[in-house]
Amino acid sequence: MTIKAKNTDPGNTVRMTENLTQWFKQHARNLPWRRQRTGYTALISEAMLQQTQVSRVLEPYRRFLKRFPTVRHLAAASEQEVLTAWAGLGYYRRARFLHAAAKTIVNEYRGRIPRDTRTLLRLPGVGKYTAGAIASIVYGQRAPIVDGNIQRVLARLYNRSDAPEKSEMIKWFWCEAESLVNLAAEPGIFNEAMMELGATLCTPRQPNCAACPVQSSCLAHRWDRAEFVPPPRQGPLRIVEHHHAIIVERKGTILLEKRPSDGMWSSMWQPPTVESSTHLSPEEVAVSLPFKVHIQKVLPAFTHQTTHRRLIFHVHRGSTRIRRGEWRNPNRIDDLPMSNAHRKVLRAARVID
Ligand code: SF4
Repeated sequence: MTIKAKNTDPGNTVRMTENLTQWFKQHARNLPWRRQRTGYTALISEAMLQQTQVSRVLEPYRRFLKRFPTVRHLAAASEQEVLTAWAGLGYYRRARFLHAAAKTIVNEYRGRIPRDTRTLLRLPGVGKYTAGAIASIVYGQRAPIVDGNIQRVLARLYNRSDAPEKSEMIKWFWCEAESLVNLAAEPGIFNEAMMELGATLCTPRQPNCAACPVQSSCLAHRWDRAEFVPPPRQGPLRIVEHHHAIIVERKGTILLEKRPSDGMWSSMWQPPTVESSTHLSPEEVAVSLPFKVHIQKVLPAFTHQTTHRRLIFHVHRGSTRIRRGEWRNPNRIDDLPMSNAHRKVLRAARVID
């Protein structure tokens, strides 16, 4: 397979980058991080947009920026404050990396967001994509970016039907993105336009080729293969885990516990929970807990998917005589870092709305 991007008709390619740039200027969605473009806002929005849809990021983005208006505010916050402000987005590792990046920026770069990809790549949690996005979109540098949307657009423009996750294809995407951004008059706008095209018109199913500004350059469209390129990704093999959560209430409070400081949802809060690879009976759950509990009721189970895991939550109601532990008023747990899945457990048991 040839990796190096070959540009056999630079004139046509330059026209294509111009058409796409013009289209973006007229049709770009009005998103909050586009209205207020700084290195700091880009760092936050890019961290939030990884693995999360735009519509789910809008409100947390606004809330996060209000809570931490500058990189210095974010660097000075505690981890628990940052995790709480991240609520609703999941994948809390991103919040920890963002927090660590803010500290590095304050301590090593005097609070200024680096402008070039090489320095950006030294920040915790900042990979090639985020570094390229900040360098090009905020600072106008000629840096390529490749995300899932851009992979799809490139595969279709050049009618490449190899699996996008193959290492040769990943190299090819970066190589091609670099060659295009080098030809674009406005690199940042061009990069954003590629992402916007993938998000709005060149969608995985039923791409809207009739409205596409680069239709005349698109080989997949010419050969009527847009729907088949790129081929669907092989889904990750998911590990199945059973989480047996116990809801114990007493005098208007509920018993909670903090998760371990490493692993999934580290240091976040949850009702006492027994995790296992198989579904346990209520008796097995009771004897697995570190305190004596009488299980009274089992509520309907629900499933929560993460990238690599399928978690089945079994929600139990129980009672206990113990007094020690973290007894919290359920009306005052909004400021506790707690995953969406555990808030769903509390809702399933009608502890919160
Ligand atoms: Fe995507 Fe269709 Fe445009 Fe090709 S013509 S880039 S397949 S929307």
